[in-house]
Amino acid sequence: MDMTESARPDGPQIRPPKKTTVGLPGIAHSVRYALEEMGPRRSLQTLLTMNHVKGFDCPSCAWPDPDPEHRRAAEFCENGAKAVAWEATRKRVDAAFFAVHSVAELRAQEDHWLEHHGRLTEPMHLAPGATHYKPISWDDAIALVADRLRGLDDPNRAVFYTSGRASNEAAFVYQLLARRLGTNNLPDCSNMCHESSGAALTETIGIGKGVVTLADIEDHAELIVIVGQNPGTNHPRMLTALEKAKRRGARVVAVNPLPEAAFGRFRNPQTPRGLLGPGTVLADSYLPVRVNGDLAFFAGVNKALLAREDAAPGTVLDRDFIEKYCDGFDAAADAWRVLEWPAIETMSGLSRTQIEDFAAHVVAAGSVIVCWAMGLTQHRNAVATIREIVNFLLLRGNVGRPGAGPSPIRGHSNVQGDRTMGIWEKMPDTFLDALREEFGFDPPREHGGDTVEAIRAMRKGKVDVFFALGGNFVAATPDTEATEAAMAHCALTVHVATKLNRSHLCHGAEALLLPCLGRTERDVQGGREQFVTVEDSMSMVHASRGTLLPGSDKLRSEIAIVTGLGHALFGDDVGWREMGSDYRVIRKHIEHVVPGFHAFEQRVSQPGGFMLPRGPHDSRTFKTATGKARFTVNPPSAVEVPPGHLLLQTVRSHDQFNTTVYGLDDRYRGIKGGRRVVFVNPDDLRERGLGDGDIVDVVGIAPDGERRAKAFRAVEYPTPRGCAAAYFPEANVLVPLDSVAEISNTPTSKSIVIRLERAG
Ligand code: SF4
Repeated sequence: MDMTESARPDGPQIRPPKKTTVGLPGIAHSVRYALEEMGPRRSLQTLLTMNHVKGFDCPSCAWPDPDPEHRRAAEFCENGAKAVAWEATRKRVDAAFFAVHSVAELRAQEDHWLEHHGRLTEPMHLAPGATHYKPISWDDAIALVADRLRGLDDPNRAVFYTSGRASNEAAFVYQLLARRLGTNNLPDCSNMCHESSGAALTETIGIGKGVVTLADIEDHAELIVIVGQNPGTNHPRMLTALEKAKRRGARVVAVNPLPEAAFGRFRNPQTPRGLLGPGTVLADSYLPVRVNGDLAFFAGVNKALLAREDAAPGTVLDRDFIEKYCDGFDAAADAWRVLEWPAIETMSGLSRTQIEDFAAHVVAAGSVIVCWAMGLTQHRNAVATIREIVNFLLLRGNVGRPGAGPSPIRGHSNVQGDRTMGIWEKMPDTFLDALREEFGFDPPREHGGDTVEAIRAMRKGKVDVFFALGGNFVAATPDTEATEAAMAHCALTVHVATKLNRSHLCHGAEALLLPCLGRTERDVQGGREQFVTVEDSMSMVHASRGTLLPGSDKLRSEIAIVTGLGHALFGDDVGWREMGSDYRVIRKHIEHVVPGFHAFEQRVSQPGGFMLPRGPHDSRTFKTATGKARFTVNPPSAVEVPPGHLLLQTVRSHDQFNTTVYGLDDRYRGIKGGRRVVFVNPDDLRERGLGDGDIVDVVGIAPDGERRAKAFRAVEYPTPRGCAAAYFPEANVLVPLDSVAEISNTPTSKSIVIRLERAG
């Protein structure tokens, strides 16, 4: 048998899940981790400037910062500290490292091992047929990429992928480069996370992002619903915001198949009360919805609200709001009236009583916010689910007033800003027209491919050059084996990166690694210190300035790499040189091209930055097809799971940020020293003749055949019957490339039909 970590005698140790978050253990872990990677001086230099006006933006999640006057000295969480330590580590992966380790050897290592070795220091080249990466000069590396791009038969044979770390300025010049070349092939990590949110919100309220502010959560909302989101691990400073809301009397309800520690007690490390006292219980109630049961749940809630209104007209729904600002109400109401409760209960896994009780709390609350994350977006019916959440909010006028609205919580620090800057394969003509006006060339109008489409194209040999601005493509994407094989079909793969990861080892015929500056590092161009900007989950745009000296004198900024490539390809046709040496020039272009960025330089230089306009929030303006907020009909549905099978969702551990694995523990869920675990309801295990601690293969079932993730340790866990969970990227191998959400094309990483087989 494969001796993976799960099968080893020292494989993961399991303890009961925690019911408390942060407190002294959170501080201890942050400090230990920072000191190990950075030492005391660098730790102070980074952690005390992170998320501060004159410092840099946390490279981890996109949670917003408080107003400058309310920021504390330590304005970060445990995961923010880990992200910074990971980037600002003193360890180096240099030419000597690559001389010792062949690509094949490196590929056999686990992801954590690869990234753990430190920062890349100079450009590296893997020649066709070579076994080892070797150093290459920047000039030669840029010339090589330019040469291959110039030689394409068709610009659509190039793909330009972006991770959510790229700054606004880097993203803007990057999309400019792709479009100047003649392609809209600009897939990004958003395709795999909040694409479903963007699709549903654009259709129903006319903007593809959330429309609440931090103050709405902290100061105004009376009910905050957290659905399919685990803030304790993925957006930890949200716990502070929830605590503030709780202390002024707001109600918090968690809807999730896993009873995450974040819904229990929060011991705020910033306050003596949090450290010395018992902490604050954040969730007033927890609803253990089935995996993929959220659409049925919200449909049930809407049905219950409508029934209350029918029983006492004019007391439940906000009729004035619906009449003035919305359309489609009658059709949606007719659909809710005929829904059958038994079907809702079966699909959601929640009883009618639980759903009606929740509806009663909604009616008692003057203002409601719904927050969500990947637990909702990575299902076949994800767009319908989010549309149903919009229905839920519209029913009581919970959009466009204090303390109310939809709030998709973004995972990577500038994933939202990158989309605003034009990183999208389907940017509207208004954006492309503005680009033409500004730069004097005609951008391509044919839509490009998203992430899944890019992999399919690679698989068919239709991609010659794959260029990634950050990220770990093969670890973030579904169907790991298919994606890795697809990469091998490219003639050239290029990765702009800070650290070595698996994607650099699943290469095309030829490959380049181009090491870039991190967020923590000073960026001097044209003899002048530069700053970049980012947009958080709540549409605040602000500056980010690194404070450390670069980890190597051969690192270049992402902007310098992209504008250097632009210059090599096109000469100075759109001013690549000037943009690369003075980021104010890029911001001036952004001001002219992207709506909402007037007086960009001046406004972003103010402490805290500025908020982008959002019509639904600011003035109840809805730029939809009808100019109104739209009720939609979303018949409840749920994945059909054959007898003997389970529905598995992929999740992150607490020692992980997206594809970056900082360590092998998941403290809050009680896992220590391993990641190949599958969380299953104890009765489901017993029914299969299995028990806690058994080693099983997780077998994914799909129309195109079975996929197998070997040797996972079964862990009894309080998730609803029929549900299971395992960490990604280890479980990505089970997600079929062709299993995607309707409309958004997001891989269905949260609804994988599996069976468990005792490992032989
Ligand atoms: S909440 Fe997110 S942005 Fe804030 S410090 Fe933590 S990881 Fe960074």
